[in-house]
Amino acid sequence: MRITRRRLLAGATGGAAAHLLGACAPGPERADVVVLGAGLSGLNAARLLESLGANVIVLEASGRIGGRVDTRYDAEGAPELGAADVGTLYARVIDTAAELNVALEPWPDSPPGYWFHIGGETFTAAQWPDLAGNPLQGDLRAINPSAISRAFMPRPHPLPALGAWAEDDYQALDMPYGEYLASLGAPPEAMPLLQIGTQLDSLNAESALWKLRGIKFQMESIATAMAQKQPFRKYVPGGMSTLTDAMAASLQAEVRLQHAVVAIDNRTDGVTVTCANGTRFAADFVICTLPLPALRKVALSRPLPGVAAEALNEIPYGRATSVVLQILEPYWEVDGMPPNFWTDTVLQRAFLNPSPTGEGQHLWVFNTGTADLSGRGWTAAEIGEYVLQQLNELRPSTVGRLAVGAVRSFTRDPLVGGTYATRAPGQVQRFRNVLAETFDRLLVAGEHTALLNSGMEGAMESGERAALAVSLA
Ligand SMILES: Cc1cc2nc3c(=O)[nH]c(=O)nc-3n(C[C@H](O)[C@H](O)[C@H](O)COP(=O)(O)OP(=O)(O)OC[C@H]3O[C@@H](n4cnc5c(N)ncnc54)[C@H](O)[C@@H]3O)c2cc1C
Repeated sequence: MRITRRRLLAGATGGAAAHLLGACAPGPERADVVVLGAGLSGLNAARLLESLGANVIVLEASGRIGGRVDTRYDAEGAPELGAADVGTLYARVIDTAAELNVALEPWPDSPPGYWFHIGGETFTAAQWPDLAGNPLQGDLRAINPSAISRAFMPRPHPLPALGAWAEDDYQALDMPYGEYLASLGAPPEAMPLLQIGTQLDSLNAESALWKLRGIKFQMESIATAMAQKQPFRKYVPGGMSTLTDAMAASLQAEVRLQHAVVAIDNRTDGVTVTCANGTRFAADFVICTLPLPALRKVALSRPLPGVAAEALNEIPYGRATSVVLQILEPYWEVDGMPPNFWTDTVLQRAFLNPSPTGEGQHLWVFNTGTADLSGRGWTAAEIGEYVLQQLNELRPSTVGRLAVGAVRSFTRDPLVGGTYATRAPGQVQRFRNVLAETFDRLLVAGEHTALLNSGMEGAMESGERAALAVSLA
């Protein structure tokens, strides 16, 4: 679809005509493109399409903008429950923030070190080498548990460039990550330590090639930050949602909230999208940015072809719950240990983060993988109380000095179904980036279809790719 001024005007006239017709025979509302999902991917696609003159409708199932960007303005200090770290390579995020006057600031320095609780023992990094419970041998004993993965980092990194993960030459690395670590010398006793913080049930559940893709992205970010003498990580004071809200506000068309898409009729001559509330929308193209677990529940008139359908149905997502605890008093000043923690308990890891509103700090507890509490059938409040109680037991200095702020289970949220897409061993080779292809009038976007970038920048990249593909079709 070449988007031209003439086409835009024709669309506008058509829209008016459809409106008049609608008075006698209600039909689907029409646009050039319908974008599904108002996360970063969908918002970026919609903004780009509008800038090219297209008439766009954005449909969002929930009552809010942002998707996995989720600043909780109703909780004290407006904590982040989703994405907040902006890396040096995030060109699209950084440019969009600048255009929309959304400030980015370097993260304040985090207090150094961790409070560790592993194998039933509490210790600091300095105590770890001589600890009886330290299962490692030789030089490995001196590496603290939060840094152990660096000991098994291949040097040089096997991927020469960010997009190389999808090339034939590297597919031998599409093997279980645990086996790959063992091939680099990781002993069996290091595996439980390496598992902490991972989002799948075991190290071998993830493809080493996919993991290396993420590590490459991080390494390039750090190298760029160092070369540019820039901080490695930035955040949005005021909250990451300020950016997604500003993106939505900059659209000519208002995002239709509470419009959960349940069906996509994808024909060779156009698309019709149906929402759970009965509304229908017709367009030349649809860009679908739904996370795959959410897209699996949408009825497609024509299933995706072959391997794309397998990718849609089989790509796994990480599991996690975000629990934000308010700091009533600085518990670390009571026991003299670092505030951040790293454990092999259900608490897993926690990080002291600045409150976006500038009102102090909060503790972000990130329960991932096997520690994810989502499967216990508890409410968000019950999960928060359980985390607080467990922490109080493990670290007495926290008693009375923390309170539950906000909780979100990404695993249980039907509009996401996990944290982000990963790949099981063998799936990188089988699926490559097949979902980024065009399926008649349906384009799939979202972080799960990014080629070069990860996280928020991957979402932006994918929205841009889909919008450009539509504009050139
Ligand atoms: C806890 C956590 C922390 C993270 N931290 C970082 C970080 O620090 N830095 C970073 O770069 N990345 C981070 N990420 C990843 C980042 O959040 C995502 O990569 C990015 O936000 C995904 O954007 P998206 O537009 O692809 O998807 P989403 O943001 O998930 O947007 C998809 C949208 O589709 C909507 N939707 C779902 N189903 C339907 C339906 N049926 N009809 C209509 N709409 C529907 C959803 O409600 C949602 O709004 C984090 C993710 C998580 C979970």
